[in-house]
Amino acid sequence: MPIDSSSGSLIDIGANLTNGAFRDDLAAVIARARSVRLAAIVVTGTTVEISEAASGLAAEHPDFLYATAGVHPHHASDWSEASALALSQLLREVRVVAVGECGLDFERNYSPPDAQRSCFRRQLELACDVGKPLFLHCRGAHRPFLEMLDQFRGRLPKVVVHCFTEGVDEARAYVERGWHIGITGWIADEKRGGALREAVRQIPLHRLLVETDAPYLVPLNKPDARRRDRNEPAFLPWVAKKLAECRKQEESLIAHATTRTSLEFFDLAGPAQLADIYNYREVTGRMSTSGQPNEAQLAAVAREGFAVVVNLALHNEPRYSLADETGVVRSLGMEYAHIPVQFDKPTQSDLLAFFSTMEQHRDRKVFVHCAANMRVSAFVGLYRSIVEHLPDEQAFSVMKTIWEPNEVWSRFIAEMLAASRT
Ligand SMILES: [Zn+2]
Repeated sequence: MPIDSSSGSLIDIGANLTNGAFRDDLAAVIARARSVRLAAIVVTGTTVEISEAASGLAAEHPDFLYATAGVHPHHASDWSEASALALSQLLREVRVVAVGECGLDFERNYSPPDAQRSCFRRQLELACDVGKPLFLHCRGAHRPFLEMLDQFRGRLPKVVVHCFTEGVDEARAYVERGWHIGITGWIADEKRGGALREAVRQIPLHRLLVETDAPYLVPLNKPDARRRDRNEPAFLPWVAKKLAECRKQEESLIAHATTRTSLEFFDLAGPAQLADIYNYREVTGRMSTSGQPNEAQLAAVAREGFAVVVNLALHNEPRYSLADETGVVRSLGMEYAHIPVQFDKPTQSDLLAFFSTMEQHRDRKVFVHCAANMRVSAFVGLYRSIVEHLPDEQAFSVMKTIWEPNEVWSRFIAEMLAASRT
């Protein structure tokens, strides 16, 4: 399993992205989450319908979003055997990584306690059957919650108690049982978070996970945040920051540890890596090349410290181009240069535009791609030969690992080399 450890990226293990609060701007919310270097989001399912929607959303963003499938105690009255069947079907999908959100909520009792218990029990049985982790909710029910779970002792899969808000004793009871604990913006709430701030100092680092529970619980340490504001995954770094303060540890350590724990706990594939991009080749320390990256792979490009993305493919190659590469690259904080080169008709002016872009960004890390790294490897070969004066053998060494240029390109390369030497 590839684990990204270099970047200080975070994983939001609980966000209610199917909530109506995100109806109008979900794409922008997801783009902002990527732009603050989140590596993944687990979208919470709280009813059968919402779990189906969460799974659908995860299917649309396969390397960034995952889902849970479960019925929240608030909706326990709606539970039926059809729910069990629907959830077990969802849980066959790789992208549905946990059973939940389920548990007990005797604080609000939106469903009667007996209905909550039987709905919870059925989901505990389901989790034991499918062996996927449990994503649990507990409010005002610590004792009965433990009693029910303890009946499954020895059979339970991995457990995370999400949105933990209680104190040292409750945390200890969970940690003793080998469970994990999810920390939200509650920790940054000066009025309500005192016991939690005390408790997080006692929880072993490798048992902690972070989450927004968006759209709820906006972290109040975020400047200008007001209690009723909509929360979103891009605010997760504020939760990590407060957690780091309480534990007197570096934020980068918190990020590294919680990300690693999340990847292992949910068995996530991990964030996209440069090496996964089609025909990826590192040319020099400041220049890498490839075919068309997808959005998640562009996020990996940003994480690796590239400042500029140069695209030599057309924007309207339906098999390759992204809907809005300009927007994606800029949202990731990189500069974007587009020099569309017709594959069957490369021109000298394309090449000169490429040279001047490369010269303009001489001191920055530049990522150059087209559709398949054929155009790019030829242009980079010419750049290294004509501008950097490397011997042709060396200048074109990367191109040789990708393709043997066709007639159009052999002629183009020969003409450009000849023109530069007269
Ligand atoms: Zn909850």
